[in-house]
Amino acid sequence: MVKEKACKKCKLIVEGPNCPICKGNEFANVIQGKINFIDINNSIIGQKMEKTHNGRYAIKIR
Ligand SMILES: [Zn+2]
Repeated sequence: MVKEKACKKCKLIVEGPNCPICKGNEFANVIQGKINFIDINNSIIGQKMEKTHNGRYAIKIR
């Protein structure tokens, strides 16, 4: 199983070497809670979290 990591900037859960949204390469390995946005434009939670891209995000990272 691939160890999941979350982008420190936008909290997107990333499998590759770079974040596809912000192109960042700093990741947090401790993920507490996940949320999956499939229709970000109609998601109140997504807008509250100021997300603009669909995908899986960590709620809290360390
Ligand atoms: Zn990012």
